[in-house]
Amino acid sequence: MAWETVIGLEVHARLLTESKMFCGCSTAFGAPPNTHVCPVCLAYPGALPVMNRRAVDLAMRMGLASGCEVQLRSQFARKNYFYPDLPKGYQISQFERPLATGGQIVIGEKTVRLRRIHLEEDAGKLIHESGRSLVDLNRSGTPLIEIVSEPDIGSAAEASTYFNRLRQMLMYTEVCDGNMEEGSLRCDANVSLHLRGNPLGTRVEIKNLNSFRFLSRAIEFEVERQTKLLEGGGKVVQETRLFDPNKNETRPMRTKEEAHDYRYFPEPDLFALEVDRPWIEKVRAAIPELPATRSARFQRELGLTPVDAEILVTSREIADYFEKVARLSGNPKSASNWIRNDVLRVGLTTITPPLLATLIQMIDRGAIGGKAAKEIFEDMASSGEEPERIAERKGLAQVSDPGAIREAAQRVIARNETQVEQYRGGKAQVFGFLVGQLMKEMRGKANAEVANSVLRELLEG
Ligand code: ADP
Ligand code: MG
Ligand code: ZN
Repeated sequence: MAWETVIGLEVHARLLTESKMFCGCSTAFGAPPNTHVCPVCLAYPGALPVMNRRAVDLAMRMGLASGCEVQLRSQFARKNYFYPDLPKGYQISQFERPLATGGQIVIGEKTVRLRRIHLEEDAGKLIHESGRSLVDLNRSGTPLIEIVSEPDIGSAAEASTYFNRLRQMLMYTEVCDGNMEEGSLRCDANVSLHLRGNPLGTRVEIKNLNSFRFLSRAIEFEVERQTKLLEGGGKVVQETRLFDPNKNETRPMRTKEEAHDYRYFPEPDLFALEVDRPWIEKVRAAIPELPATRSARFQRELGLTPVDAEILVTSREIADYFEKVARLSGNPKSASNWIRNDVLRVGLTTITPPLLATLIQMIDRGAIGGKAAKEIFEDMASSGEEPERIAERKGLAQVSDPGAIREAAQRVIARNETQVEQYRGGKAQVFGFLVGQLMKEMRGKANAEVANSVLRELLEG
C-alpha cells in the first residue's frame, strides 16, 4: 500500500541574548557548573521573574521573518512537570496565547506552514558521570523560542531541508547562533503515516534531535518501523521516542503526555506580554535580507543558477563575500565558481574579496591562463600576496601583446615551410601543429586566443 509520510517539526532555538529570560544571569556557554545562577533561576521561594525585553525582540524578529502575525497581547503559562533539572517544578512557556502565529517557510516548490512561535525558558542539564547524576543549572532559564510547524512535511529529506532553512534564517537574523553541538538548536520530529485522502494517522514524537543527519535517520527509521507495523495489521501507539545514533533506531521513552497532564495555567508572577505597532515595526525594519530573497536576487540580477545561488546564500558571510567579489570583478559567474570550488575549501578569511576579484580580472583580460590562475590562487591562500606579484615572482604572466606574438609566429612560419604550404593548400588540420609550435616558441605563455588569431591572420593574409 502507498503509505504517505506526514511530519511536523517542533524546533527549539536558544536566543542570542546576553542574559537569561527572567533574571540577569549570563547565558554564556561552557562556564563552570552552577556559576551563572541566582535566586530566580534556582527557584528560591519568593524570587520573582522579570521579562527580558531583548528576548521578546528576537522572538518577534524570527516571527516577522517567517511571515507570522505578532500578537499584541500574549501570555506566559506554567507547564508543570517534575524533573531534577527543573528546580521550580514548572517551566515558564506560552500555551494558549503564543507571541506569534501563522507564517510559512518556503523550501523550493514547497511551503511549510507554521502554527506558532512562542517564547519559553530552557531547563538545566543533568551530567551523568561515574555512577552519579549531577545537576548544572547554568542553562536554567535561558531564553528559547519554539517554532512549531503544521504537519506539512512529507519526507526525511524535506524535514532536513526545512530545518536547515530555519537554521539559516535564525543565523541571518542573529536570533540564534545555530550551534547544534552546543545545543543552541534542537528539534522534535512528529511522524505519522496515512493513506492518501484519509485522515492523518497516529503520530510518534522523536525528541531532541540535534543534527541534520540524526533528524533524517530517525525519521527514516520511524517510517520503516511504522510501515511494517501497519502492513502487519498493527496499530501505531502515540508515544514519545528517543533516537539512538549508535544503534540507528528509535526507542520508546514514555507514552505521550497530553496538554492536560501539564496542568497549564497563566503565569501569575508575570503580566501579559504586550507589544505595540511601533515596536513591531521597529523590529521589522531591522530584519536583513533573508536567504530565500537573496538567492532569488542572485539568480535574477547576477544570472546565477538556482544551485549556485543556494550554495552562496548558505550563510550571510558567504553571501556577503560573493557579492563583494562579484561587484569588484564585474564577473559574478566566475566569482561564484571560484568561491564554490576554491574559497570554501580554504576558508573565507584566507583570501580577501579584493584579491580574488583582481585574480578574476587578470584572467578576464588575458593576463594569465586558467592553469596559472589555479597556481596563483593556492599561493595567495598561503602567502596572502597580491596576485600580480605572485604572477611576476613565479613567471606566470601570460603574453597577450599581439606584437610579441606576431614576431614569434613569423619565426615559426619561417621554420615550417612544408606545413605552411600544406595549410595554404587546404589542409586545415595542420593549423593545430603550427599553434603548438607557436606556444612552444613562447614557452607556453602566449594567450591562446591571441595566438590563434595572429597565426591565422599571418597564414591567410
Ligand atoms: P502537542 O501539543 O501535543 O505537542 P500539537 O498538536 O501541538 O501537539 O502538534 C505538535 C506537532 O506535531 C506539530 O508540529 C504538528 O504539526 C505535529 N503533528 C500533529 N499531528 C500530526 C500527525 N498526525 N502526524 C505528524 N505530525 C503531526
Ligand atoms: Mg509539543
Ligand atoms: Zn538567574
